[in-house]
Amino acid sequence: MNMPRDHVSAELLDRYAAGDRGRPDVWWAVEAHLEACPACRDRLAAAVVRVSPATAALLDRVRDGLVAEVARGPRPRRRRSIARLAASVWRWAAPAVLPRLAMTVLMVVVAVGLDLADERTGGRYPSLVLLLAPVAPLLAVAAVWSRGLDPAYEIVASSARAGLDLVLRRAVAVLALVIPALGAAGALVGISPARWLLPCLAFTVAALALGEVVGLHRATTGLIAAWAAIVVGPSLATGRPPVALTVASLPVWAVVTAVVTVALVVRRRAYTALSSTR
Ligand SMILES: [Zn+2]
Repeated sequence: MNMPRDHVSAELLDRYAAGDRGRPDVWWAVEAHLEACPACRDRLAAAVVRVSPATAALLDRVRDGLVAEVARGPRPRRRRSIARLAASVWRWAAPAVLPRLAMTVLMVVVAVGLDLADERTGGRYPSLVLLLAPVAPLLAVAAVWSRGLDPAYEIVASSARAGLDLVLRRAVAVLALVIPALGAAGALVGISPARWLLPCLAFTVAALALGEVVGLHRATTGLIAAWAAIVVGPSLATGRPPVALTVASLPVWAVVTAVVTVALVVRRRAYTALSSTR
C-alpha cells in the first residue's frame, strides 16, 4: 500500500505493535501521530493482531471482562424530581454563596429565638424576623457576582454565559433557599409572608440594579446599612413595627419593584463591563 510520507510506515507500526522500545524519540512521534490519525490507529489495530497475538488476546480479555462487569453493575438510577430540582439550584448557585447562605440561615434562626424570647417577656419589640426579612437575601446576593468573593470569577466572567442572565439565575437560586427559610421562621413567630415577600423581592432586584452601577458588593452593603439606619434602628428604639412593612405599604413596594426591574433590564450589559469592580 502506498502511504503518504506523513503517515507512520508499516514497518514502524509492526515494530511498535511488537513492543520494540529501542528509540523513545521515534515512538514519541509515532504516538503523537496516532492520537491524531484514525487511519493509522486502524492500521495499528491490524498490526497488533498480525504481529502480537498475545497482546490482541489480552485486549480481547480486558474488553470481555469490562462488558461483563458493566452488565452486572447497578443500572444508573433516575433522580427524582425533588433531587433534580435541588441539583439545578446547586448548579445555579455561585460557589462563594454557600457560606453566606449558611450565615443567613443562622441569622434567621437567631432572630426567631429572640422573637420567641421577647414574646415570652411581654412582646416589647417588633418582630426581628420581619425586620430582617427584606434584606435577608442580600448577604448571599452580594456573592453571586463578585471578584473579591468568587475564586473562579475571572473564568466565569470570561465565559459566554456571563452577564445579567447568569447573575439572575444565581440570585434566583439564593431566593429559592432564603425565602422558604424566612417562611418557616415567619410561621414560628406568626408573621405572614404577605408582609415581607414583596419588600424582599424589591430589595433583591434593587441590589442587582444598583450592582450594575457600583458593583454588587457595595450595592448590598449600602442597602443593608440604609435599611438598618432608616427602618430597623428607629423601629427597635420606639418599639413599634415599621410603617414600611404594613400591608398598606405593599402597593408602594410593587411600584418600586417594577421601576427597579425596568432599570435593571435597561442596563443589563453593565454586568459584563463591570469586571474591575469588587
Ligand atoms: Zn496516519
